[in-house]
Amino acid sequence: MSKQPAPAVDSRARPAPAPVLATEAIEDERLAAVRRYDIVDTPPDGAFDRITALAARLFNVPIAIVSIVDEDRIWFKSHHGLEIDETSRDPGLCASAIMQTDPWLVSDARADPRTMANPLVAGEVGLRFYAGVPLADEEGHGLGTLCIIDRAPRTLTPDEVATLQDLAAVVMDEIELRLASRRLSEQEWALADEQRRLAEDIIQVTAYIRGLSDTEDADAVRAAICRIAMDIVQADSAAIHELAGDDLTLTQTLNVGAPWTSPDTYLQDLSSPAARAFIRGKAVQVTQTESSAPETFWQPFAAGGRTSVAVLALAWDRPSDMSPIRLSHLMAHVAAEAMAAFERADLLTQLEALARTDALTGLPNRRAINEDLPRELERARREGRSLCVAILDIDHFKRFNDTYGHPAGDRLLADAAVTWRDALRGGTDLLARYGGEEFLVVLPASTTDAHATMERLRASTPEGQTASVGLAIWDPAESADELVARADLALYAAKRAGRNRIEQAPVRSGPG
Ligand code: GH3
Ligand code: MG
Ligand code: MG
Repeated sequence: MSKQPAPAVDSRARPAPAPVLATEAIEDERLAAVRRYDIVDTPPDGAFDRITALAARLFNVPIAIVSIVDEDRIWFKSHHGLEIDETSRDPGLCASAIMQTDPWLVSDARADPRTMANPLVAGEVGLRFYAGVPLADEEGHGLGTLCIIDRAPRTLTPDEVATLQDLAAVVMDEIELRLASRRLSEQEWALADEQRRLAEDIIQVTAYIRGLSDTEDADAVRAAICRIAMDIVQADSAAIHELAGDDLTLTQTLNVGAPWTSPDTYLQDLSSPAARAFIRGKAVQVTQTESSAPETFWQPFAAGGRTSVAVLALAWDRPSDMSPIRLSHLMAHVAAEAMAAFERADLLTQLEALARTDALTGLPNRRAINEDLPRELERARREGRSLCVAILDIDHFKRFNDTYGHPAGDRLLADAAVTWRDALRGGTDLLARYGGEEFLVVLPASTTDAHATMERLRASTPEGQTASVGLAIWDPAESADELVARADLALYAAKRAGRNRIEQAPVRSGPG
């Protein structure tokens, strides 16, 4: 048995990690470290191959290896001069080497009781000399070794041991470098992933809110916006606060999920997050003292860089784990889309109003009356009220046009509309332009009252012109169309009877 060389440690060697005890718990920790570096079974890497080639040349040995000791095998990250990729862990030389704090040196393995049974020693590899430096992480976990192997017995000088340790340090630096760069790219991936999710959410918000364009009901649009906002950031409630008519307060106009309605806020009260968000035109986040996650978030809605018109409030029952950047991006987008949706809804309301109004007189037009009269009849039926419909038609209007010109005819129509509307009881009586120079009047009145009212209208026709009236008392069994048709027949009768008069339609003669 040849004598053991003393472990060579000199001043150039880097400080040895703390001794490692081969208990099970420590081995579990060591294996966790191996996993953390995630190096086992990675593809060949030129940097490690250059180090093993250099080691072989430097020490004039046929074999140099960078090994990683895994749970049940020794895997070679780089193997210079040896064809195999891995060996079994037990009884492996490297597995012994990693249990040491110093380089593990075996001068003649065949004569050394620690190694003589090893298959690499006894078998065809014919290993005689082994020198392995543990590759340890910062906590001293031995991941594997840088080792050199010869088929003849030999020793290393302390200088050579120090050089081998230096090379092992370079190997460890390479391993650390790979871990660091993988962590970096994992972070980049996480960032890219976050951005992709944000983009997807933004697309979803856009599609959802634009899908509201058919919704004419402004409150339904508000509720839908609250819901999408809550959904996308997992808030427990949402509310919309809008500028009140006094231009001084914010009023909660809608709330989803909150059990209470918050009181009005004065815009001057900058202790209120709603007022702050509204005035500054920037989102306000209210967090719990202990955490940076929001409990409430206040997003102003503003159109085209103008002053705010509303604030969307979101609340979480407990602090949310939503990233503040993601939250503010998403809510800014909800605000922009919501603003567009509000404007679209307003536009639709305006268009709808326009479609029901006669441009010349500003009165409801035929379409409006056709929509509203059946509703009026339904209400009168429920309330057991009587109701009359009259058609008022200017006499010889064609002649007036021919005499004074079409524009004068227009003015007469507009004047008549104003005069007649003023002569009616606002709120209950209804005046509409039914056609060219025909007007329709709905009077929730008895026959006598209706006669008196229509008489007043007929007599007040402007420009010294006259008008004829066909009046029909509604029979609760008849439809709006039937009622108007009877008024029309009565008008025809008035014309035939010499114009400038009221004719009342005969009482309806039974159904059909
Ligand atoms: P009657 O006494 O039988 O009602 O005779 P009329 O001339 O009033 O009725 P007629 O139906 O013969 O003619 C209606 C005229 O109203 C014809 C049309 O050119 C004119 N008119 C329809 N709409 C307008 C309008 O918006 N402006 C003007 N200036 N004229 C109109
Ligand atoms: Mg006429
Ligand atoms: Mg007419």
